[in-house]
Amino acid sequence: MEIIKEMQALLLEEGKNRFLKYIKIDTTSDEGTGTFPSTKKQFDLGKLLVEELNDLGFEKVVIDENCFVYGDLLASKGYEKTQPIGLIAHMDTSPSESGTNIEPVIHEKYNGKPIKYPKNPDLTLTIEDSPLLEKFKGMDIITSSGDTLLGADDKAGIAGIMAAAVAWHKYPELKHGPITVCFTPDEEIGQGTTKINMDRLPEFCYTFDGGEMGELEIECFDAWKATITFNGISVHPGYAKNIMVNAIDIASRFVAQIPEDESPQHTENREGFYHLYAMDGNCVKAKTVFILRDFEKKNNEAKMVYLEKLKTAFEERYRGLKINLEFDHSYENMIVYLEEHPEVIQKAAEAIKMADLELNQTLIRGGTDGARLSARGIPTPNIFAGGVLFHSLKEYIPIPALQKSAEVILYLAKNWIG
Ligand SMILES: [Zn+2]
Repeated sequence: MEIIKEMQALLLEEGKNRFLKYIKIDTTSDEGTGTFPSTKKQFDLGKLLVEELNDLGFEKVVIDENCFVYGDLLASKGYEKTQPIGLIAHMDTSPSESGTNIEPVIHEKYNGKPIKYPKNPDLTLTIEDSPLLEKFKGMDIITSSGDTLLGADDKAGIAGIMAAAVAWHKYPELKHGPITVCFTPDEEIGQGTTKINMDRLPEFCYTFDGGEMGELEIECFDAWKATITFNGISVHPGYAKNIMVNAIDIASRFVAQIPEDESPQHTENREGFYHLYAMDGNCVKAKTVFILRDFEKKNNEAKMVYLEKLKTAFEERYRGLKINLEFDHSYENMIVYLEEHPEVIQKAAEAIKMADLELNQTLIRGGTDGARLSARGIPTPNIFAGGVLFHSLKEYIPIPALQKSAEVILYLAKNWIG
């Protein structure tokens, strides 16, 4: 199977046009609503995708009451018995910046100079902001108008999948096994798999929600939350000698014992950290919450042992003080599950190379929906969607990334039929 020039032209056209169509639909999610999906407007994109999947010959296309879209593409003749795979992308955009009335600007044949924005004269995008721009000189680049994010996270992922679907529909010689597509709501607020129907997904899936062209993410953090409650003793401060146990004062001394170089602002690559993200209280009671992150579970376990030791030491030093330590496991490093099925990684890595891209097999200093699915039994690495500077007004995507994303999907499907 070869993706000939004519097909590449189609993928470019379809990838670009569909991307420009999807970003015009406001799908910002919202942590504050407490509903599912968090915002009703995500149904607008979901319903459009249902129509498009139906037009492209998908079967059992549905959008459920929680705004998850599913559709199945039957295998090419003769490949019905091959391994089904799932392609996943999320429909919502991050609440970090506005996603309303996105007006994309296409910068043709990017010349390397700072990019200016029509609706935000104070904003510029330079190679210092994003060294990758150097690589994209000569390519057409899409940005927002400077007053919204662009929405490449993750509408570029959806556009890549849909462009591949167009190619499968038009060129039966592009062989594939059974394919399930799934578009999810509320990924940006951590709810992208909460209500996902596991029964609708095949044994192996891929999310298309990574960064620049060529990326394949197979590792994420092993993630814990540590909640530490300090119970003190309050008396009138004028008569407190040898009696008062000031919970919030002691909590701040406790926090000061956490190694400063093991914080998010001092770590990168494979280094883990303690991150203090909440602290409040008074003399009687104080509470601090840390998140613990590392790529090795045993390193996080060492952090928990250290916190336990601090607890013992502090309770000895301050008579009457009671510290309560609670640890919750938020998510696991997906590599643990992916390593049991190396072919899932391998076929994706090959597909990226077949699309003439430099493979960048890497890790995410965060979690993905794929990590959660992997832990629940469906190994799901994360492949690039092509956008850069996600969640910001400067978010952008080089247009060729939309074509390359679709090419990778076509090769991936091919690799699974052998
Ligand atoms: Zn995303």
